[in-house]
Amino acid sequence: MSRFIVVGGGISGLTAARGLADAGHEVLVLEATDRVGGKLRRGEVAGITVDVGAEAMINRRPEGVDLATAVGLPLTHPTPATSRIWTRDALRPLPRTLMGAPLDLDQLEASGILSPEGMSRARHQYIQHPDEDESVGWLVANRFGQEVVDRLVEPLLGGVYAGQARHISIRSAAPQLAELLARREFTLPAPPADAPPMFAGVEGGMWRLPAALEADLRERPGVELRYDAPVTAVRRTGSGFVVSTAGGEEAADGLVLATPAAPSARLLADVAPVAAGELEQIGYASVALVTLAFRADDPGVAEALDVGAAGFLVPPVDDRAIKASTFSFAKWDWVRAAADGLLVLRTSLGRFGEEATLQVSDEELVGASLTDLGAATGLAASPVDAVVQRWGGGLPQYWVGHLDRVARIRAAVAEVPGLAVCGAAYDGVGIAACIASGHRAAGELGG
Ligand SMILES: Cc1cc2nc3c(=O)[nH]c(=O)nc-3n(C[C@H](O)[C@H](O)[C@H](O)COP(=O)(O)OP(=O)(O)OC[C@H]3O[C@@H](n4cnc5c(N)ncnc54)[C@H](O)[C@@H]3O)c2cc1C
Repeated sequence: MSRFIVVGGGISGLTAARGLADAGHEVLVLEATDRVGGKLRRGEVAGITVDVGAEAMINRRPEGVDLATAVGLPLTHPTPATSRIWTRDALRPLPRTLMGAPLDLDQLEASGILSPEGMSRARHQYIQHPDEDESVGWLVANRFGQEVVDRLVEPLLGGVYAGQARHISIRSAAPQLAELLARREFTLPAPPADAPPMFAGVEGGMWRLPAALEADLRERPGVELRYDAPVTAVRRTGSGFVVSTAGGEEAADGLVLATPAAPSARLLADVAPVAAGELEQIGYASVALVTLAFRADDPGVAEALDVGAAGFLVPPVDDRAIKASTFSFAKWDWVRAAADGLLVLRTSLGRFGEEATLQVSDEELVGASLTDLGAATGLAASPVDAVVQRWGGGLPQYWVGHLDRVARIRAAVAEVPGLAVCGAAYDGVGIAACIASGHRAAGELGG
């Protein structure tokens, strides 16, 4: 049995800790804040407990749903309600796309998302075969025209990465799209009617996943979770490590850094300087989520919001404050059921490079959200409650060349026996990908 320290109690770190504990090791999790979960976090609006961070996970890869099932959580799926695009002054149906690249041009034309000129360019496609990594925006613009990027790719990528299409790496963020763009026919078969749903959630909220992991870890002898314990330095001693926190030093045979790129870079400065230098280059976008509750029987509320959609995305080219709104009451049955007589929804704001737009008061973020919701849906009511959750440095940016950067980081980390890294900065920002990276880190260290 060895002793391991896991720095960071987000979903990646908790997964790694569980893997190491499963292998019979002693594990100490050091978490900087007063709670585990990181970007999976609960909040309360009008007395209803909701997610104020991540709210869903991909269902078509196993890691997230398997872990939730293993810790006894009830899975659920979003309702069939789909999202719209709010552009060219209307809420328009979202046509079938792959990360915004249109799979059905007739559907795209019928949606009215593009201007007639944009539509004509989308129909005159140019096929590229790039040898190197390129940006999603550059490749899609070459094939379908800039308007497709502006009005479809940007809002869809904005939802996942809060990034800009002209910088995001196609090989890291959308490998299937890279492959399809190189083909003459840009088509994919529609999923069969009985295909498993694309996304899953947890009844009561995704925040329950780290909470259940925390409870699971607490029951294991040899596992300790320590809160308010930011790690400030790491050094090598013989074949092990010593980490420093405000409370003192802790020694271990092995170390997992499950922190975002900037803290990981700082902590690796002496132990793995090449990895630290690469980690410093990974940018992060800051975002804010505004969760609002409205009385369903307020005049006009149900009429404005019950548009049969699960929300809408907003292209940056339309110059609105919000980049999306999720109608949680329409997307999740459990939210609707929990919110008796209320309709809960949320807006998100902030993209990479637009930090200044978030440097305003909570009231201003709520006000901007209400203005945009009003313009999009006709909603004129005041919410009964509003909660603002800021995620400074919330989402890593997978810029062109990201895969090579991650390979260099992993190679440098592998030169330090007993050291592993995991988290959203590496192989995918989604919950399932983070869980996979936690499993991988534990596996690399013999977990
Ligand atoms: C607003 C938002 C919405 C999202 N929605 C979704 C979604 O619906 N579906 C989806 O799949 N993904 C979503 N994501 C992405 C996903 O939630 C995250 O990528 C993922 O949860 C990151 O997990 P992590 O464990 O790698 O990092 P984090 O959650 O960032 O956890 C890292 C932990 O390390 C701690 N820490 C940092 N520094 C130190 C230190 N020096 N010492 C000790 N501890 C430290 C932090 O406090 C934190 O708890 C969303 C992200 C955001 C920001």
